[in-house]
Amino acid sequence: MSDMPTPKPGIMDISPYAGGESGIEGQTRIIKLSSNEGAFGPSPKSAAAYRELAANMHRYPDGGATSLRRAIGERFSLDPAQIVCGAGSDELISLLCKAYAGPGDEVLYSRHGFLMYPISAKSVGATSVTAPETNRTADVDALLTAVTAKTRILFLANPNNPTGTYLPAAEVRRLRAGLRGDILLVLDAAYAEYVTANDYDAGVALVDAGSNTVMTRTFSKIYGLGGLRLGWAYCPANVADVLNRLRGPFNVGAAALAAGVAAINDRAFEEMSREHNIRWREWTAKQLTALGLDVTPSIGNFLLVCFGDDKTRGADTADSFLKSKGIIVRKMGGYGFPDGLRISIGLEDEMRAVVGAIAQFLGKNDPGEGA
Ligand SMILES: *Cc1c(COP(=O)(O)O)cnc(C)c1O
Repeated sequence: MSDMPTPKPGIMDISPYAGGESGIEGQTRIIKLSSNEGAFGPSPKSAAAYRELAANMHRYPDGGATSLRRAIGERFSLDPAQIVCGAGSDELISLLCKAYAGPGDEVLYSRHGFLMYPISAKSVGATSVTAPETNRTADVDALLTAVTAKTRILFLANPNNPTGTYLPAAEVRRLRAGLRGDILLVLDAAYAEYVTANDYDAGVALVDAGSNTVMTRTFSKIYGLGGLRLGWAYCPANVADVLNRLRGPFNVGAAALAAGVAAINDRAFEEMSREHNIRWREWTAKQLTALGLDVTPSIGNFLLVCFGDDKTRGADTADSFLKSKGIIVRKMGGYGFPDGLRISIGLEDEMRAVVGAIAQFLGKNDPGEGA
């Protein structure tokens, strides 16, 4: 007889999620480009709303997140009744797994998809299954081929983290059309606010078209509220009903609600952030490509940069070198890119610094100098 409690099946198979590092021993001035947090931090209006809330923090939050759902509904022309808020979209991802998958079921995602999908799947005893990608991009045919009688949920991050690639709306429609009706398709659009591609759609039309597609969004990226934990899902009525039964009655804190309303209404800040991101993402991609690195074209606020197999000039060595310069990026071994680093798009001087440091690492002239 064991003398300790045994966790449910699947739980000990979870590799705990490792977030981006945030400090370097012995360094006080650091450039943190490891978690896609939004170059400018929160909008000043959002920070002000958060501060104002402090005097009332003894009050429980509005468990229905009414003001935030109304603000999101107005902003995107959505019915607030079909919006469910969560403590980060991570919470919504795990609630969807809890609601729709369990032991014996399969949760499908693409090979280099977001690691919270297998973690959430295993946490409910389900099996996570991956389908191969083509050119570091989700492959609709491969995903459909990987579907079995046991498949319950398919998670598609669009655009995907960490590759930055995306599927055009027509391909996502083809994916939905090829899936059984009882399979929940979750379109994780954490980076949607950064996207300007004409053929992209975050998923609203597909949610509206049936009862089996959900779109999730987050306040952790362009809105810069990662520390507050806030996300939302746009769901068909049947799924919203299920999530509202399952979630904690006060799953989103009052400060997050207040800051979230201010963030969604600060259109100028969002627009400025989007423009900045496009400019410095493209600039950084061009410089790193000129240095001979393999940069995956991205529509998000980050770049996947591959260094190749030469260990002396590889990703791990580059990561240590960048750390010695006070720059933190993200190693990608856990995502199946042992030669890759993911670099978030930060402020102009931060991008110049990271490009300069990588040039130095490679023993080349800084291509960004004077640019
Ligand atoms: C960052 C991210 C999320 C969101 O995280 P939360 O902070 O929990 O809202 C979800 N999906 C992807 C693909 C992400 O990169």
